[in-house]
Amino acid sequence: MNPATTDRVLKYGHRSIPYRLQLSQSKRLRIVVMPTMEVRAYAPARCSEADILKAIQSKAPWIARQLDTVEQFHPLPSPHQYISGETFVYLGRQYRLRVEAGEAAPAKLRGRFLHVHVPDKTDACAVRRRVDTWYRERAAETFARYLDKWLVVGARHGIPEPQLVIRRMRTRWGSCTTAGRITLNVALVQTPAHCIEYVIMHELGHLKHHNHSKAFYGLLARCMPDWKRRKRVLDAIILADLTEPRQGRAAQSRSAQDIGPRWPRLTAGAAPSIM
Ligand SMILES: [Zn+2]
Repeated sequence: MNPATTDRVLKYGHRSIPYRLQLSQSKRLRIVVMPTMEVRAYAPARCSEADILKAIQSKAPWIARQLDTVEQFHPLPSPHQYISGETFVYLGRQYRLRVEAGEAAPAKLRGRFLHVHVPDKTDACAVRRRVDTWYRERAAETFARYLDKWLVVGARHGIPEPQLVIRRMRTRWGSCTTAGRITLNVALVQTPAHCIEYVIMHELGHLKHHNHSKAFYGLLARCMPDWKRRKRVLDAIILADLTEPRQGRAAQSRSAQDIGPRWPRLTAGAAPSIM
């Protein structure tokens, strides 16, 4: 097949899904659904066109599912400008930002709106500070509550009480150190509660097993029998805010255990099945 990169359309049911096919030296077909809803397929150059197209077609249900999920969880791929009408996600639900001029006050959720009062409505930095503070406070309250809940379960299996740290991380939802400290990404508060609980239980499990061994997953399954379902939802979530430049010093240490949000792409071979 020549040239090496071609634009194609995948037919699936009533849907026509445009994608870019690129031939590469890779040994396996790799399909990536981007946060922008673009689809890229990387196929081994040594395979025949018929085989490649057949393989991509067989992935059509997965691609369609990923596109639906991206659309559902990530309707606004552009970074926030902190103006009225923008969508912000909290516990898996969307809220519209409403910026109002007035005496500065903490951001507040009312109905489907996130209200922010600032002296100057056009001061995006001031609005952002209010929104960021609100997210941090919601994260602190929510994570502490679910940590308490799952620690009760974990304690029955000999899991000790950790120290909880919350901060912005660019590529991970959570991490854990052998010293007994769990770090959670503040952006996790944007995901549904059952996903937050999964990340917390996962990290709690690492307090006992500092690896992804069979024993670790055995413990996880005993504490949270439906963890796989929760993980599947979490793996499909892509958060706009994670794409923003990292602030401050590097937010992760190499020794920590981690589970990643798999940003910026979902890979056909790796998405829900890997563990
Ligand atoms: Zn882990």
